Amino acid sequence: MGAGITIAQGLQRVEPEVKHLAFIGDSTFFHTGIPGIINAVYNNTDITVIILDNSTTAMTGNQPHPGTGKTMMRSVSEKVDIYHMVKACGVKNLTKVNPLKQKEAVEAVTEAVAYPGPSVVIFEAPCIALQRQPNKLSINEKCTSCKKCIREAGCPAISTIDGKIVIERSLCYGCTLCAQICPAGAIGGAEL
Ligand code: SF4
Ligand code: SF4
Repeated sequence: MGAGITIAQGLQRVEPEVKHLAFIGDSTFFHTGIPGIINAVYNNTDITVIILDNSTTAMTGNQPHPGTGKTMMRSVSEKVDIYHMVKACGVKNLTKVNPLKQKEAVEAVTEAVAYPGPSVVIFEAPCIALQRQPNKLSINEKCTSCKKCIREAGCPAISTIDGKIVIERSLCYGCTLCAQICPAGAIGGAEL
């Protein structure tokens, strides 16, 4: 709830040789994240902040926030743009990327972490619970049971049953991350 950004700065003082990353949602960014980012810029603290922007307050029931362009009474208002807000805080190393494009997302974080100073990555994609894709994903005979999808996607929908990798359809949101990770091209579906 915003404490991660300032805690990361404290940890950086104690362990300057370690890169510390802080994660924050878009709603909390507006509530409590901005002062911590300004503090990191002002003190040139070598941390990376990842802002998870799904354009809603998903944790508490999808309420609007200043980045959504809607008020609590659901009237339309001027959006406050997170990218420009972070830039206005003085962050020089700043990038925005779709976290469901796995390769680009990894490259963006790798570059931000390598930067010697405060950096910010904005992961922007709609909340999958609100924009659920019809799931047509399945695992085919090319699967080598290497379990890379389980290790790297960290998705609760993927598991093993009797040594076979399976996708539990009721838990799958159709994000396609596992298909991007699979080295064997073993995860496919009509929409891929
Ligand atoms: S990454 Fe692909 S090949 Fe490896 S276990 Fe998962 S589905 Fe099978
Ligand atoms: S498509 Fe996304 S939600 Fe579905 S199993 Fe793969 S990683 Fe999980």
